[in-house]
Amino acid sequence: MYNSVIVKYGEIGIKGKNRYLFENKLIKNIKNMLKPIDKFNVYKEYGRVYVDLGDYEYEEVVEEIKKVFGVVGVCPAVKVLRNNEEDIEAAYEKLKETAIIVLEDKIENGAKTFKVESRRGDKSFRLTSQEMSMDIGGYLLSKVGDRIEADMHKPEVKIRCEFRENNVVVYSDTVPGYGGLPLGTNGKAMSLLSGGIDSPVATWMVAKRGMEVEAVHFHTYPFTSEKSQEKVKDLAKILAKYVGKVRLHKVNILEIQKAVGLNCRDEEMTIISRRFMMRIAEEIAKDRRCDALITGESIGQVASQTIQGLTCTNASVSLPVFRPLIAMDKSEIIDIAKKIDTFETSIIPEEDCCSVFAPKKPVTKPRLDRIEESEVALDAEQLIKDAIDNMEVEVLEF
Ligand code: ATP
Ligand code: MG
Repeated sequence: MYNSVIVKYGEIGIKGKNRYLFENKLIKNIKNMLKPIDKFNVYKEYGRVYVDLGDYEYEEVVEEIKKVFGVVGVCPAVKVLRNNEEDIEAAYEKLKETAIIVLEDKIENGAKTFKVESRRGDKSFRLTSQEMSMDIGGYLLSKVGDRIEADMHKPEVKIRCEFRENNVVVYSDTVPGYGGLPLGTNGKAMSLLSGGIDSPVATWMVAKRGMEVEAVHFHTYPFTSEKSQEKVKDLAKILAKYVGKVRLHKVNILEIQKAVGLNCRDEEMTIISRRFMMRIAEEIAKDRRCDALITGESIGQVASQTIQGLTCTNASVSLPVFRPLIAMDKSEIIDIAKKIDTFETSIIPEEDCCSVFAPKKPVTKPRLDRIEESEVALDAEQLIKDAIDNMEVEVLEF
């Protein structure tokens, strides 16, 4: 029955003159998201974005479209073209007939009350939007009034009817999307992607605001396994579902961990390695023309994420560091991880390079001056250069 979907987007609407750029990006991103299913006709019409379903059922298509950042809601719709020869009353009849088809479907699914909401796009029509609603409502009641009632205040379903110059459209439900802004409308960020629960969520959240993302993962192979790298690749692949492609930089920091272990106080190990990670990520980010770093840190979550810990980590770089999870509880983060499908992969038990070399008693209140003092014993520049020279790069697609 449904032959089209209407894509609703919120914030894009307020972008004034840039609006068409955002819309075009959104259309491109929707086409990309749908590519694995088929090639779809995605187009703009009367300030809306439509996707024609062709032979596909709407459920499958809607499921993909709602993942596109910038999409607030997706409405399965029945769209019937008007033809130039028929007169305007005949076209209006078409709209009413279409409305009955949609309402019948709602009744079959158990709806007991309804209301009609109309929009007159074709200003040459004799009825106003409100008059159309009353007229169509009356017509629907005359047809199926024995099975459903009208309710103007709290209807179970709304039958939305649009009378346009070129077509008539009827729809009812809106499947919510994730919102945000179309990918690629806000620069690019480099995400520090571990195999944990947090960093994939942080990456997704920043991407949702329209930033492109790349990722860097640190490992200490052969102390950390091949499998733990596979896991990160799997996470990057899931993220690629939302962002198209993820360029993953894999950096072995075993030599750095060893040097830190030999030259620095045991309890400072984690915080100093974290500072190295940040610096390496920043170097790669600059090379890749990224405007910011992303981490999955959250205040107080672990020893290295106390305010003093975060201060020391933050001081190691000059690029802005985005920490979208900073004030979130673990349970809130997990909810998002489940929603975006990274959770099940994140919880597969694999060792992380930090856990392998984790001190028994990490400092919880590191002082920046003391940490910097400890780092003097290291040839940081050389260590960083060597690590980057040996990095491996992979581009992951869903
Ligand atoms: P996550 O669940 O993201 O691993 P976490 O709660 O385990 O986070 P930490 O291990 O302290 O926290 O790491 C804090 C942040 O540092 C991570 O969210 C991630 O952005 C970055 N990070 C930690 N380990 C790595 C790694 N091996 N590779 C890349 N980034 C890392
Ligand atoms: Mg971790």
